[in-house]
Amino acid sequence: MAEPVDVLVLGGGPAALCIASELNQRGVRVAGVAPDPVDAPWPNTYGIWADELKMVGLEPLLEHRWSDTVSYFGEGGSTAQDRCHAHGIDYGLFDRAALQRWWLERADGVVWHQDTAERVAVNGSTTSVSCASGTTLQARLVIDASGSRTPHIRRPDQGPVAGQAAYGVVGRFSQPPIEPGRFVLMDYRCDHLSGAQREEPPTFLYAMDLGDGVFFVEETSLALAPGVPYDVLKQRLQQRLDQRDVEITEVIDEEFCLFPMNLPLPDRRQPVLAFGGAASMVHPASGYMVGSLLRRGPDLALAIADALSNPAMGSVALAKRGWQALWPIELVLRHQLYQFGLSRLMGFNEGLLRTHFATFFSLPREEWFGFLTNTLPLPRLMTVMLQLFAMAPWELRRGLVLGAPGPQSPTFAQSSG
Ligand SMILES: Cc1cc2nc3c(=O)[nH]c(=O)nc-3n(C[C@H](O)[C@H](O)[C@H](O)COP(=O)(O)OP(=O)(O)OC[C@H]3O[C@@H](n4cnc5c(N)ncnc54)[C@H](O)[C@@H]3O)c2cc1C
Repeated sequence: MAEPVDVLVLGGGPAALCIASELNQRGVRVAGVAPDPVDAPWPNTYGIWADELKMVGLEPLLEHRWSDTVSYFGEGGSTAQDRCHAHGIDYGLFDRAALQRWWLERADGVVWHQDTAERVAVNGSTTSVSCASGTTLQARLVIDASGSRTPHIRRPDQGPVAGQAAYGVVGRFSQPPIEPGRFVLMDYRCDHLSGAQREEPPTFLYAMDLGDGVFFVEETSLALAPGVPYDVLKQRLQQRLDQRDVEITEVIDEEFCLFPMNLPLPDRRQPVLAFGGAASMVHPASGYMVGSLLRRGPDLALAIADALSNPAMGSVALAKRGWQALWPIELVLRHQLYQFGLSRLMGFNEGLLRTHFATFFSLPREEWFGFLTNTLPLPRLMTVMLQLFAMAPWELRRGLVLGAPGPQSPTFAQSSG
C-alpha cells in the first residue's frame, strides 16, 4: 500500500481540478484518482456571466463573449411584452481546454492515478480508497469531487431530486435561428406550442451565435422530477425552429444534459469531504457552478491546509473543518432559500413562470446578478426576495407563498414521439 498523502481527490472534472490545484498552491501533498486521463477533454461546455470571471481575474479564459444578451418573457407576437429583454451584461463560454490547462498547471506536482474509486473507508487517522484496479490509496483526508452521482457521500433523502434537462444542437442552419451576434439566456415564447403542450411543464430556449455560421440552440427545462424526457425537448426545439422557418442543415454536436438542481446538502458530519457537484454546489436557481468553484475553492483550500498543519488531526477532524469551511451556516441558509424558491418555481405553469422571470429581471442588475451568482450576503438576499415579492403581480405572489397548481408531474402524451 502506498504512503498516505495529505489529500486524495476523487474525480477529474472541474471540481477535482479546482480543489487539487488550490491545495497544491498551498503546499499540500495531493494525489488524485479519475477513470480518464486528467487532461482528457471534458464533455460539457460551461457558460458564465463575464463579471463573475472578472471578480476572480480570469476573463481571458473565455472563448466566446456576448454583449448582446437577451431573454424573452412574452408569449410570442408583436406586443410590447413580446419584445426581448436586454440583460445589459456580458455572458461568455469558457475555453474548456484553457480552463483545464489553467488548473492543471497550478496542480503541477499532484500525482494522478488513472483508476476508479470503489470503496472509501476511514481507519483511524487516515482514510483508504480501494480502486477498481485493486490498488488501495491512503490519505489523511479524502475529498470526493466525482460529481453529483457519487455513492460515497451521504445526504438526506428528501424525496425525488429535480433535474435540469436539456437537448441542444451545435450546428448550421438554413437561416440564423437567433439574431447574429446574440446570446439568448431564456426564450420563453410559446406561440409554436399547441394548447395541450402549453399545459405541460414549460421549457425555454437557451441559444448563442458561436460565429462562422455556427449556432448552439438548446431546449431546456428549469427543473422537474423526473426530468423532462429528451424526445419531448427535441420535439419542442424542432417546433420552435419550424415556426421560424429555420432548418438544421448540419449537426456538428448534440448535447443531452441532465443534472440535479435541488440535491440535498450532504450530511456534514461525515468523515469524507466533498466538493463540486458531489457537495451539492450547483446553484439551485440557475444550475451554474463553475463560478462558485472559482470563488469557494481558495478559501476551502486555505482552511484545509491550515488544519493539516496540525499533525494530530485525523480524517474525521479534517473533514469536519472542511465541511465547516465549505458550508458555513450563512451559505447553508442561502442555499435553503434558493431551494425554497426553486420548489415554488417548479409548480408554476408557463404563464406564471414568464411573469416571474419578467419581474425578476426587472430588479436592479446588481441584485439579479447577485442572486443568480450567489454573491449577495444573506440579509441582502432576503431583502431582494422580499422586493421581488413586493413587485410581483397578485397571482405570482400567491404562487410564491402558497405554491401554484401547476405541472408537477409530466404528462407528455401529446407531444412525445
Ligand atoms: C450538460 C451540462 C452542462 C452544464 N453547463 C453548465 C454551465 O454552463 N455553467 C456552469 O457553471 N455549470 C454547468 N453545469 C453544472 C456543473 O458545473 C457541471 O455539472 C460540472 O461538470 C460539475 O463538475 P464536477 O467536477 O463536480 O463533476 P463532473 O464534471 O461530473 O466530474 C466528475 C468527475 O469524477 C470522475 N469520477 C466519476 N466517478 C468516479 C469514481 N468512482 N472515482 C474517481 N473518479 C470518478 C468523472 O470521470 C469526472 O472526471 C452543467 C452540467 C451539465 C451536466
